[in-house]
Amino acid sequence: MTPHKELKMQSFRRIRQFFEDALFPPRCLSCRAHLETGERARWLCKNCTLPFDFPAGFFCPSCGRRSPAVPSCHPGTRFTGIAPWSYGNTRIRELLHLFKYDGVKVVTTPLGEELRRYLLLSMELGGISFSDFVIVPIPLHPRKLRRRGFNQSLLLARTLRTDEIPIIENILIRTRATPSQTALKEREERVNNVLGSFAVTNPEPVRGKNILLVDDVITSGATMREAARILKKAGAKKIIGLTAARA
Ligand SMILES: [Zn+2]
Ligand SMILES: [Zn+2]
Repeated sequence: MTPHKELKMQSFRRIRQFFEDALFPPRCLSCRAHLETGERARWLCKNCTLPFDFPAGFFCPSCGRRSPAVPSCHPGTRFTGIAPWSYGNTRIRELLHLFKYDGVKVVTTPLGEELRRYLLLSMELGGISFSDFVIVPIPLHPRKLRRRGFNQSLLLARTLRTDEIPIIENILIRTRATPSQTALKEREERVNNVLGSFAVTNPEPVRGKNILLVDDVITSGATMREAARILKKAGAKKIIGLTAARA
């Protein structure tokens, strides 16, 4: 684009933004209050903060034990969990719902920002460096992806990417459409539901790497455990399962 055209586009965008703001003044994602100019970048008003429910650190997905360092209670566990919020937190649950089911993607702005902060705090506390880490989002089955239009885990994962921690997309895939885990109550049902539902299409980018496996919510941990199993089979080393909320 020529500099002249670029300038024209910029002023066009500014004018459009002006009218959009006048017609639909941006509102807080959580309480719907009108946002002050300074609050708009974050999409939340000053009253709707997102304090963490859990102190920075890790949890064991087998027994739920929390620890500032990687828990050693269940050494056979395929991954270590990190999650700042409880799914019982109404504000968080509503934001995740708005994001996942209503498709309000700007939810990733405040959520991603806080998630990144919590991740950094936890990694620092546990003495884990980000070297050799790659981010892998939990994939959706293509049919589900078509229906929803986006993968919430991928969008959340993208907010965490840096120059040092790349994101590996489309390597971990779903080979089988599974009923939603939330529809299944029994732990055993959930485990069987996801068993054999993932595959790694190309092991090269994950071989010898540490993985930051990202999803929106962790419930029984069966999905993450199965994804971690497949990634480890492909040669991945340490796996940290990062989610916004923990049910
Ligand atoms: Zn608010
Ligand atoms: Zn444990």
